[in-house]
Amino acid sequence: MNIPFHIDLGNKVAVVTGGGGVLCGIFAKALAQCGAKVAILDIKKENADKVAQRIKASGGKAIGVEANVLDTNSLEKAKSIVDEELGTCDILINGAGGNHPKGTTTKEFLEKDDLIKKEGLTTFFDLDSRGIEFVFNLNFLGTLLPTQIFAKDMIDKSGAVIINISSMNAYTPLTKIPAYSAAKAAVSNFTQWLAVHMAKVGIRVNAIAPGFFLTKQNEALLINEDGSYTLRAEKIIRQTPMNRFGKPEELVGTLLWLVDENASGFVNGTVIPVDGGFSAYSGV
Ligand code: NAD
Repeated sequence: MNIPFHIDLGNKVAVVTGGGGVLCGIFAKALAQCGAKVAILDIKKENADKVAQRIKASGGKAIGVEANVLDTNSLEKAKSIVDEELGTCDILINGAGGNHPKGTTTKEFLEKDDLIKKEGLTTFFDLDSRGIEFVFNLNFLGTLLPTQIFAKDMIDKSGAVIINISSMNAYTPLTKIPAYSAAKAAVSNFTQWLAVHMAKVGIRVNAIAPGFFLTKQNEALLINEDGSYTLRAEKIIRQTPMNRFGKPEELVGTLLWLVDENASGFVNGTVIPVDGGFSAYSGV
């Protein structure tokens, strides 16, 4: 992978949750290319291992570790593997997250007729609290719990940094996905809270808010079975002044800038949009 610029992460240990996924797999590779020893944590161990294998094949140091970001025992177990095999964490990327159909309404706008039970229609009133809880927990608690487990060791380490992953819907909620929108708003808010809380112990905390990147977690909403764009995908493109989806590699420059003490040492508590202008555009 071509990284936009090189930063020196020699002797640093990076922990990337959700690292078996599309965006964080790329983050893990970029950090490894800059010399970090990378622990790829994912609930799907086989996906974490695949990313680690690819990094090792190109000369980097990485391990795949099974971890559920919602389970402190699982995170403790993962931490002891990371500590033993790579050393204690310097850079924590809280990337695990996503939406779920159970936290999603079928339509953007409620109409009176929708209240008559219709097959295949999920209105706001039909949303299952467990579905909402799942999405909210995955994104919010899934950011908070790994921080509790890994950040203690980062206290007073030079260059200690946490990057959370927020989203466009943290600024203005997207239609249909109330749980994911609220959860990512909570991630942005928590990023600010944590930056303040950790400021005296030398840990910087920032977040990246990606615009729209085609990955597994959103393909059901954006791609039809025949491979064409859904109406929602077309709407997103229209609302993105640069007129396209992002390429995951286009997040790497922001990641490396936020990780690098020399480049962003006084940047703290921010949420940086990388969105082709989506969040700046009112649509008019
Ligand atoms: P992805 O589905 O490819 O990656 C998410 C990864 O998290 C997967 O590998 C999955 O196995 C893992 N995961 C899920 N639950 C977990 C758990 N309980 N414990 C540990 N790992 C778990 O999705 P992605 O698009 O690469 O998303 C990465 C992050 O970026 C997410 O937080 C997502 O919400 C955010 N994001 C994505 C986009 C986009 O356009 N793709 C936009 C904004 C924000």
